[in-house]
Amino acid sequence: MSNMQKEKNPMPSRNPSERSKDFGEVALGYTEEQAISEAERCLNCKNRPCCDGCPVRVRIPEFIEEVRKGEFEKAYEILTSRNGLPAICGRVCPQEKQCESKCVRGIKGMPVGIGYLERFVADWHNAHCEPKKTEIPSNGKRVAIVGSGPSSLTCAGELAKLGYEVTVFEALHVAGGVLVYGIPEFRLPKAVVAREIENLSALGVKIEKNVVIGKTISIDDLFEEGFESVFVGSGAGLPKFMGIKGENCNGVYSANEFLTRINLMKGYREDSATPIPRPKKAVIVGGGNVAMDAARSALRIGAESTVVYRRSEAELPARKEEIEHAKEEGVIFRLLSNPKEIIADENGNVKGVRCAEMVLGEPDASGRRRPIEKENSSFVIEADAVIMSIGNSPNPLIKSTTSGLATEARGGIIIDENGMTTREGVFAGGDAVTGAATVILAMGAGKAAAKGIHEYLSNK
Ligand code: FAD
Ligand code: SF4
Repeated sequence: MSNMQKEKNPMPSRNPSERSKDFGEVALGYTEEQAISEAERCLNCKNRPCCDGCPVRVRIPEFIEEVRKGEFEKAYEILTSRNGLPAICGRVCPQEKQCESKCVRGIKGMPVGIGYLERFVADWHNAHCEPKKTEIPSNGKRVAIVGSGPSSLTCAGELAKLGYEVTVFEALHVAGGVLVYGIPEFRLPKAVVAREIENLSALGVKIEKNVVIGKTISIDDLFEEGFESVFVGSGAGLPKFMGIKGENCNGVYSANEFLTRINLMKGYREDSATPIPRPKKAVIVGGGNVAMDAARSALRIGAESTVVYRRSEAELPARKEEIEHAKEEGVIFRLLSNPKEIIADENGNVKGVRCAEMVLGEPDASGRRRPIEKENSSFVIEADAVIMSIGNSPNPLIKSTTSGLATEARGGIIIDENGMTTREGVFAGGDAVTGAATVILAMGAGKAAAKGIHEYLSNK
């Protein structure tokens, strides 16, 4: 019997006034009873529309059916046959725009909480089972992977399962890419990322940290060392700025720097080797997930956080859940406002942001209504920190140190339909190709590239 309740079982979460003071995880996850009750809302549709919305084609109704029966480990096996990072995706994927947007239960009520169930199954497995070391016979072929974000980890896992000897080279001292240095602990605990990486290492994937490809060694060196193919999943870590006056004042950060100093370097702790000054009033420019993460992080280190976004609430690109959480925690939103200048005191320290009010005009090329400045609408927001969260581009280092690798105008590496770049044997995927996107799209690209590498090396 299906559970015809229209609403999703809500995700239990911590009280906003308590959670906004620390970095502990906000969402607490379903209990077994809540997960079974939510799984009973699934109609096990024959045509599986939800699967069409998933970039890695998780077998959604099948895993949900096992949750319904209380067979959580079986559900995990089904889930991980298509998705190697379920505890991460269950927490950060925009399911409302993907699988859940196609769910038939969404027509007359709320869709099934596919993401909440994915998280439950992965957490249940991680709490009850140790990573299993899997002995996969080697096929004798070595593949190098640049970067350790979700595209790389997925590509590495898929290739390891096929018997390739895979080595991941990561520039930082911790593996995980944006999952560890960008997305904050309160949304994605680092222990969860570490455990998913352990599951991958159990497949035999080697991870070498503190190696910058293009500086420590080049892609040419990797081929000389005997790697037969290379996957580049170096992400989009080059922050964009607005180009307005005052952007080089003290107290102006890119969201990347601010979040890395908080998440990776724990700069807010007294004992941190790289402490971050605690702002009193932070202005965060932008309206995506990155802006929400920066605003909520600034709040947690004691600042009054104001998000300044040039369009209206309807156009905010961040996940709805993240916007709601930010509001509950006390983040202030100055919508239809555009920064024009960052104002500094006589010592060059930020003291405010001059903005203009905006109105929305006709839709632009992106399909969103174009913001137009209102005349004589200038106003100042007081601030001692400004965090620019308006996007990132791929870093040019790999391109500039690898011969034959073509990129498009915005820096994305050009690939063919199999994921191969213009340099033979070198594949790429994730944000390094598309520019800043999502975890699941990066994973889909890593998976597609693994297939391309396998075909290429099988025919070589
Ligand atoms: P990345 O995760 O960027 O990983 C690239 C890795 O390559 C990094 O570890 C980097 O150090 C390493 N690297 C770079 N150059 C070199 C080199 N030369 N040599 C060796 N290593 C190198 N997506 C969602 O789906 N949901 C969200 O809620 C969400 N929130 C986000 C919040 C923030 C703050 C940010 C920044 C992004 C967010 N995203 C979110 C986007 C998502 O995290 C990215 O799209 C995804 O991580 C891209 O994966 P990737 O593997 O392509 O690259
Ligand atoms: Fe279940 Fe919704 Fe998928 Fe149908 S569309 S199988 S109800 S999750």
